[in-house]
Amino acid sequence: MKYAAYGLAGLLGLLGLVFIVGSQGQVGRLLIGGVLLLAAVVVVYLVRVQPQQTQVTTVQKIDLSGDVALEEIRCRSCNAPLSKDEITVEAGAIMVSCSHCGATYQFEEAPKF
Ligand SMILES: [Zn+2]
Repeated sequence: MKYAAYGLAGLLGLLGLVFIVGSQGQVGRLLIGGVLLLAAVVVVYLVRVQPQQTQVTTVQKIDLSGDVALEEIRCRSCNAPLSKDEITVEAGAIMVSCSHCGATYQFEEAPKF
């Protein structure tokens, strides 16, 4: 599609040049040539400006504010260190599901001020 547009632009530009070169002083031909050249420029411009398809990816990040290192998070039931796989985000809440004791609860980060 893009190459077709460039081909079209090239054709329009060439036609425009032909009209201008072969105008022999005729204002009408000069005008047509100018319009064709302008059209070629517009086509190239449109193709270039066309926004590239951006892949929209929504990544649900586990955002732990403060300087809480993941290694320091421990299960509140059995005090076993929790790995990344054991922490999930459900509806905006950080859920902990301990694989050591099977406890599932919402993780509440203690504010550090
Ligand atoms: Zn546990």
